[in-house]
Amino acid sequence: MAYDIEREIERAAEVIKASRYCIALVGAGISVESGIPPFRGAGGLWTKHGEPPMDGYQRLMRDPAAYWQQMLARRESGDEFVRAIDAAQPNPAHLALAELESSGRLKHTISQNIDNLHFVAGSRSVTEIHGNRTKVRCTGCGARWPFEEFVITELPPPCPLCGAVVKGDTVMFGEPIPEAAIGACYAESEQADAMIIAGTSASVIPAAWFPALVLERGGTLVEVNVEETPFSDNCAAVLRGPAGELLPRLVERIAARGRTRGSP
Ligand SMILES: [Zn+2]
Repeated sequence: MAYDIEREIERAAEVIKASRYCIALVGAGISVESGIPPFRGAGGLWTKHGEPPMDGYQRLMRDPAAYWQQMLARRESGDEFVRAIDAAQPNPAHLALAELESSGRLKHTISQNIDNLHFVAGSRSVTEIHGNRTKVRCTGCGARWPFEEFVITELPPPCPLCGAVVKGDTVMFGEPIPEAAIGACYAESEQADAMIIAGTSASVIPAAWFPALVLERGGTLVEVNVEETPFSDNCAAVLRGPAGELLPRLVERIAARGRTRGSP
């Protein structure tokens, strides 16, 4: 049968409407639509400028003062990525997810993005696997603060709670993903009977674990992505195209069906 996007949207809407606990897994494809360059691939930051050091986290722990000097200088000077991400606004994909959450249909979003745009769009229940660039985090106790509210009187600034080294919340190469974030992703995926995979290839771990877990436990997957993913063949519906275009159409369809059901 020929590919029919309307049929796929209809199927996806059915899955989400029938679900008891639907979550989303999202990635760089959503940020790109807000003008944030990806790290990898054609036009990617790392493709153009080289990857950051693989032992970034180890370097930080060896010399946290030098790390802070570099980070503050970078925020000050604003390189290409900092400028793009500072200017970025949520796009229709972010807004659609926030709307789905506020309508009660979406319980949680697992994001691989660091740009804070889900929160700007109005989502509340979000786990950011790779951290959030607008926050700082203690490497000892894991406490987090908004960057703007964190008072720096010395370099490196110690954690006010435990005295350990504080760093930007964004997860660096060589740095373990914070246990609290991984734990939340597992807990959410174990509860989920449906998952929307949007703007991500879902091929990099740890993100790849979560749709696999949902499937394993008998849940249903819906994919919204420009390219095929390792999960495409196991999805109940595949919405092939940009999330910024297709997620709003999906959310609209769910809302329309909700209205129809209630009318005489
Ligand atoms: Zn601490």
